[in-house]
Amino acid sequence: AKDSGKNSARFFTADMDQAVQMRTRLEAQLRRALDQNEFRVYFQPQVDLRTHRIVGAEALIRWVREDGSMCPPSEFIPVAEETGLITPIGEWVLRQACTEAARWQRLSATPVSLAVNLSAYQFRHQDLSRLVQEILRETGLPAQMLELEITESLLVQDDISVGTTMQDLRHLGVHFTVDDFGTGYSSLSYIRRFPVETIKIDQSFIRYCVQDHSAATLVEAILAMASSLNLRVVAEGVETIEQRELLRSLRCGYAQGYYFGRPMPAEDFAALPALAMGV
Ligand code: C2E
Ligand code: CA
Ligand code: CA
Ligand code: CA
Repeated sequence: AKDSGKNSARFFTADMDQAVQMRTRLEAQLRRALDQNEFRVYFQPQVDLRTHRIVGAEALIRWVREDGSMCPPSEFIPVAEETGLITPIGEWVLRQACTEAARWQRLSATPVSLAVNLSAYQFRHQDLSRLVQEILRETGLPAQMLELEITESLLVQDDISVGTTMQDLRHLGVHFTVDDFGTGYSSLSYIRRFPVETIKIDQSFIRYCVQDHSAATLVEAILAMASSLNLRVVAEGVETIEQRELLRSLRCGYAQGYYFGRPMPAEDFAALPALAMGV
């Protein structure tokens, strides 16, 4: 028994070594990816459920490695956050996405907003309001067309500097969205203390809302709370017409998901017939 304990300890250490090695390798690859321009920004349409019109897009990063393989953000964003590489990567995404969105404003007859995901790390380790201001000026995107998506966990920590940064950005005209709503704290009380206009109902609730009555009840409850606080609601992960119809009947304002469109390159987004941006 003693022996096998020793063995499992050794295996455990070997596993850890391997995990550390993989992380170190990924970190090096991420640095190279930045240098070599291996990242792309894709855009997924967001629609108004009453009119079915595209009113916005969420920017989602993509990484195609030099060997052609795709590495999903769920794998590399956490490593980028731990190593601080999320700062240059996040800046790159923001600049790239704002550049594209500024073009849409010039081409489209109706305004199309841009949502960009931010990591908590970006609030703590950089002068975010100055960066955003700089990028808006550089790209010419009107501030009110930019929505920054943050997570509940950033707000519940109730960090004074986060609140101040958000206020500064709000004064510029930028909007805030709370992403993945319902997965964490499921309380709207903290939201009142921050300049938040929109919540995104997490896709885990949408996935089952047609079959599962309790999931639908939760979505209904979130919509009622949001309406009493005058918050816009975006349902994410909408994949079927049944889900769309249910959300519409519950008076959910906006939706996003494969049913309306997958994340796609900027050229494809600009060429969507619903936008008819003269391409
Ligand atoms: P998220 O912000 O919650 O983004 C939604 C995710 O759901 C995206 O995955 C999107 O492709 C996917 N999705 C959209 N519609 C559907 C649908 O109908 N069904 C299903 N099953 N999935 C759908 P993706 O692009 O792999 O991104 C995963 C996560 O990585 C994002 O979750 C976000 O947390 C993070 N991420 C992506 N891009 C960025 C970025 O530029 N910066 C930061 N900080 N995080 C990012
Ligand atoms: Ca998001
Ligand atoms: Ca989300
Ligand atoms: Ca998510």
